[in-house]
Amino acid sequence: MSVESRLCADLHCHSTVSDGVLTPRALAERASLNGVTIWSLTDHDEISGQAEARDAARALGMHYLTGVEISVTWAARTVHIVGLGFDPDNAALEEGVRQTRSGRADRARRIGENFARLGIPGVFEGALTYAGNPELVSRTHFARFLVEAGHCPDIQSVFDRYLADDGIANEPMQWAKLESAVRWIREAGGRAVIAHPGRYRYTPIQFASLYDTFKELGGEAIEVVTGSHTPAQFIEFAAIARGYGFMASCGSDFHSPSESRHDLGSLPPLPADLTPVWKSLV
Ligand code: AMP
Ligand code: MN
Ligand code: MN
Ligand code: MN
Repeated sequence: MSVESRLCADLHCHSTVSDGVLTPRALAERASLNGVTIWSLTDHDEISGQAEARDAARALGMHYLTGVEISVTWAARTVHIVGLGFDPDNAALEEGVRQTRSGRADRARRIGENFARLGIPGVFEGALTYAGNPELVSRTHFARFLVEAGHCPDIQSVFDRYLADDGIANEPMQWAKLESAVRWIREAGGRAVIAHPGRYRYTPIQFASLYDTFKELGGEAIEVVTGSHTPAQFIEFAAIARGYGFMASCGSDFHSPSESRHDLGSLPPLPADLTPVWKSLV
């Protein structure tokens, strides 16, 4: 058995730096308690939690890979690209993710106006009280406020009723270009990974084009085992990884003990024949 395949990897989760509820340090402790031995914090469009995550992970004896989840618009839909193992001091990557998140404040205000028109005032201000980082207001913060204020029974119903990509209170966003996100990650020495491919509503032709384009740009991996996939999708995307020659990644996408279906370190291992994305990085 290789060193890589003996590791328990969780390479996708969120802290208070984006839309998670635990600090980077608390996440590291939870990951370690749950048996994770190689970990990455992948906040949305933000890398300011990386030093705390790395220091905490190393103090706990885990391998650490720097991480980020970049919001991208491709073929008129949002795709998330995870970057792993990059230099966190790379100026172009830092500037790229800063630009990517820069439209979030105005978008949040517009979402608040949409709720006001629907007869629910004060939602922008409410969401802000849930955002640990004022530059990173996410739909998740809106969802938490709306549940706490009694407008919806749970987070999922907020998305179903209001905030899904085509939801009545959502505001469409023009995120980073796929080529930019992959370039920032690669030029900072990292590996680019398509996050939770099973979540995208593309046609089979669009999926094929996404994989081809991503590969041409230097994208190297896809998430196969993720909290967003069903067990049937683990098998489906393992086949995609084999077919396109992608390395495979694994991550819970943990956000919160009370909201997330899958805890840190709780997912099954990757199929043994796939090359893990952390190969030769640890
Ligand atoms: P944003 O980056 O602000 O567009 O928010 C995206 C975040 O919202 C995702 O990372 C998830 O945390 C959350 N999210 C998106 N769609 C759903 C959904 N259908 N159910 C629950 N959470 C969702
Ligand atoms: Mn999120
Ligand atoms: Mn995502
Ligand atoms: Mn995520």
